[in-house]
Parts: sequence; structure tokens; C-alpha cells
Amino acid sequence: MTDCLFCKIIAKQIPSKMIYEDDDVVAFHDINPAAQVHFLIVPKLHVASLADCDQGHAALLGKMTLLAPRLAAEQGCGYQADGGTGGFKTQFNTGPDGGQEVYHLHMHVIGGPRPWRGQR
Ligand code: AMP
Ligand code: ZN
Repeated sequence: MTDCLFCKIIAKQIPSKMIYEDDDVVAFHDINPAAQVHFLIVPKLHVASLADCDQGHAALLGKMTLLAPRLAAEQGCGYQADGGTGGFKTQFNTGPDGGQEVYHLHMHVIGGPRPWRGQR
């Protein structure tokens, strides 16, 4: 995709604060964070939205989902099940009514002490 913001970030044509990269996905800090921790997990494959995914994307979606708690912990907002503290929100915005602005699949991971922007 030549005119996709996240494809350009993945290709390092646009700078980002990258926190993770492997053969399939990247993760970088959101430029307009809604909370103390806010990063995006993004597949290197250009897929426009969650609604464009099918069974062939299941492994990729699983990988993105399982990365979320690991990277959240590294970023300081992991869920401590034993003490019942910490934690984070995962979110896929899909389509205009879902608030999607960038049409390259991504998972938001949002955490840190509340209140968050616009939320309690
Ligand atoms: P969405 O509304 O789900 O499409 O989310 C797109 C997110 O990308 C928003 O939270 C933006 O703040 C974020 N964003 C836009 N441009 C950049 C950028 N250059 N680097 C990092 N995050 C960005
Ligand atoms: Zn793209």
C-alpha cells in the first residue's frame, strides 16, 4: 500500500516510537495517547480493518492478541492477577461508527493509572 500511514511507519519512511518488531507485526506508541501507556500493535500485512479479516488471518490476530499482555507488562501496565492490580484495555476500532481513522488493522493497548483522557 503506497498511501497508507501505517505501511509507511512499518517501512520506516515515517518515524515512530517503536517498542516491538518481528517478521509479522510491529508495535509503536500512539502519537496522541489517551492514557499514560497507549501503543498500537500493527500487522506488517496491510489489511484495512477487522471486518476485512477472515479465517486466514486467525493466526495473525492471535499473535497480536497474545502480544498485548506481554508488551503491556513491559510498558508498565501489566495485569497483576495475584494482587488484583494494573491492567489495560485492548481495542479494535472498526469503520466510521467504530471511530476508525487509520484503515490499516491495529489493536490499541491502553493502560496506566486512571483517570484516562475522556474516561474515569
Ligand atoms: P483509529 O482511530 O483506531 O484508527 O486509531 C488510529 C490511531 O493512530 C490514533 O489513536 C492516532 O493517534 C494514531 N496515530 C496517527 N498517526 C500516528 C503516527 N504517526 N504515529 C503513531 N500513532 C499515530
Ligand atoms: Zn497499510
